[in-house]
Amino acid sequence: MSSDSTDSSESTGTEGTDAQAAGERTAYVIVGGGLAAAKAVEGIRESDPTGSILLVAQEDRLPYERPPLSKGVLKGEDEMDTAFTHDRDWYAEQHVELRLGTAATVLDTAKHELTLDGGDVVGYEKLLLATGSAPRALDVPGADLDGVLYLREMQESEALKARLTDGARVVLIGAGWIGLEVAAAARHHGSSATIIEPQAAPLLGVMGEQVGGYFAELHRGHGVELRLGEGVERIEGDGRVTGVVTKSGDTVPADVVVVGVGITPNTGLAEGAGIETDNGIVTDPGLRTSAEGVWAAGDVANWRSTTLDTNVRVEHWANAQDGGLAAGRSMAGQDVTYDPIPFFFSDQYDIGLEYAGYVPRGTDAQVVLRGEPSSNEFMAFWVVPEGEGVRVLAGMHVNVWDTIDDVQRLVREHTVVDPARLGDPGVPLGEVAASTA
Ligand SMILES: Cc1cc2nc3c(=O)[nH]c(=O)nc-3n(C[C@H](O)[C@H](O)[C@H](O)COP(=O)(O)OP(=O)(O)OC[C@H]3O[C@@H](n4cnc5c(N)ncnc54)[C@H](O)[C@@H]3O)c2cc1C
Repeated sequence: MSSDSTDSSESTGTEGTDAQAAGERTAYVIVGGGLAAAKAVEGIRESDPTGSILLVAQEDRLPYERPPLSKGVLKGEDEMDTAFTHDRDWYAEQHVELRLGTAATVLDTAKHELTLDGGDVVGYEKLLLATGSAPRALDVPGADLDGVLYLREMQESEALKARLTDGARVVLIGAGWIGLEVAAAARHHGSSATIIEPQAAPLLGVMGEQVGGYFAELHRGHGVELRLGEGVERIEGDGRVTGVVTKSGDTVPADVVVVGVGITPNTGLAEGAGIETDNGIVTDPGLRTSAEGVWAAGDVANWRSTTLDTNVRVEHWANAQDGGLAAGRSMAGQDVTYDPIPFFFSDQYDIGLEYAGYVPRGTDAQVVLRGEPSSNEFMAFWVVPEGEGVRVLAGMHVNVWDTIDDVQRLVREHTVVDPARLGDPGVPLGEVAASTA
């Protein structure tokens, strides 16, 4: 990707778009600088090669993908530039005007106008909110000390990587995806890693205790100390962090603390405009919001899933990619029903995993294992009883590749299966459906 990807000088001036100069509305305005924003351009250009597009992004970088920030880039195996979705030339070829380093501050859906930081007002025909999410802040004394870091943006990944040195003492607050992936990167660099997590297992909300326990063992096996069932009382230091004091009174020495306690969708612009929000921006299956001419996609969208018959908000890469593309298509007039089975992936040490499906909060799902977790090659399914068997709500593999399409099919088709065959690695996954009595 282009090495000048962070140079936004040509696009952050105060001059308006060509359309504005002519007193016209911009055909498409995209707010956001992540994967969903970049993919929306592709979706629009599939059927509208010439309509004016303005992309407004708060970060002073071209739109980029975040997964490498906690994996290859953080481990020093990949260059940061590999994270950019497209290089600058691509946007020029697509006739996209970029306003990087510029936040959109007010959306007026009645006037079809967007106000930008600095006061420029842009008229739009159609607008996409792809504003993503922001890390939840840790609200304890000492959370503002030097060395207490978050991981969402490129410069945060750069700052963290610089501190993951051999022998550095790294404390992760939260055993979610960020905490686990950063722990793996820390160990890669020879830093020590301690995870403090109030729940009984990592990833408890998504995986449950049994599969979460697998991740605890995985990390222990790589020398990570896990303090489960333990909260954080305060962070200590004298300007710079020196340790984390737990609720039970222990002090865990730290040179670096990484907070990964979840994210919240960036709904402020939508809320200010009176657009319906409820755990994100509510959309229909075409990713249209409650305001005429406004769409939403990516982490911020709480979209209507036809297959799952509920609204779903997904904080993962595939949803930003596919949702952004679908929103762009929908904006440009294609007939779109966005209806994927939610999907995510992670890489830690020598394991890769993919998960597909959706388990509504509060569901009393049982877990069916296929294979032995300690082998680091297994699958897990989250199921509920139905008829003579069970219905698969979600499934995951660890290092059992080329299986996720079958998992998605089971979820999408609401297939009822025999749990014994589902859990038997000797029965091809594509054939477990035929097992229903
Ligand atoms: C470190 C890290 C690792 C990850 N790893 C994985 C992984 O392994 N697998 C996986 O499935 N998912 C992963 N994810 C999640 C995935 O990256 C997100 O789901 C994805 O980035 C969402 O894309 P998005 O475009 O919706 O939003 P974002 O990527 O959050 O981008 C939104 C952008 O909009 C900008 N913005 C917000 N408000 C405004 C405004 N008012 N005006 C202008 N711009 C604004 C923000 O500054 C931001 O740049 C990871 C996330 C992180 C942070």
